[in-house]
Amino acid sequence: MERLTQLLENNRAWANSILANDPEFFKKLSTQQNPEYLWIGCSDSRVPANQITGLAPGEIFVHRNVANIVVETDFNVLAVMQYAVDVLKVRHIIVCGHYGCGGVRAALENFRHGMIDNWLAGIRSLARRNKEELDALDTDTAVDRLCELNVLSQAAHVARTTILEDAWERGQEIAIHSWIYRLSTGLITTLAPPIKGSLDISH
Ligand code: ZN
Repeated sequence: MERLTQLLENNRAWANSILANDPEFFKKLSTQQNPEYLWIGCSDSRVPANQITGLAPGEIFVHRNVANIVVETDFNVLAVMQYAVDVLKVRHIIVCGHYGCGGVRAALENFRHGMIDNWLAGIRSLARRNKEELDALDTDTAVDRLCELNVLSQAAHVARTTILEDAWERGQEIAIHSWIYRLSTGLITTLAPPIKGSLDISH
């Protein structure tokens, strides 16, 4: 319980520090949000979207799940994407994975983990499609390579949704970015050029 009290105290200190710089910050932010970015990332506690990109509240719309998966039967991610694209009119969708992802590692392992195996089915089939390349690597390197392939695959899934197809059709400018974060350095690298239209999808 004491730890939770600490969180609430942290919250007050944080709010006060923001107000010290801009007394109207929360008042202004409470009436509207106008983020330019949608972040689709992993739930991993070590990959917090705002902190690693240096963005303030109001600047990035965020969806996170285990292993940053975008699947067309998941109403959660679709609802987030539709709101971000159609209402908030974000200009950039960032799919950001991370090396050493536990979800991706679980997808490569040959034993049952529980319900999560169903969630990871798409990554398991991605691993099967790239079996030859992955089999030639040691386990940790194979996990990291599959983390990269997963980001590229999920970015392509975003591009193939009716949400993006319709937005591009109407002439809305949105770029989809494939990024990966390294836990051991705190640095993000870009895996591929941005996808700016249906013709840019390579996976
Ligand atoms: Zn992860």
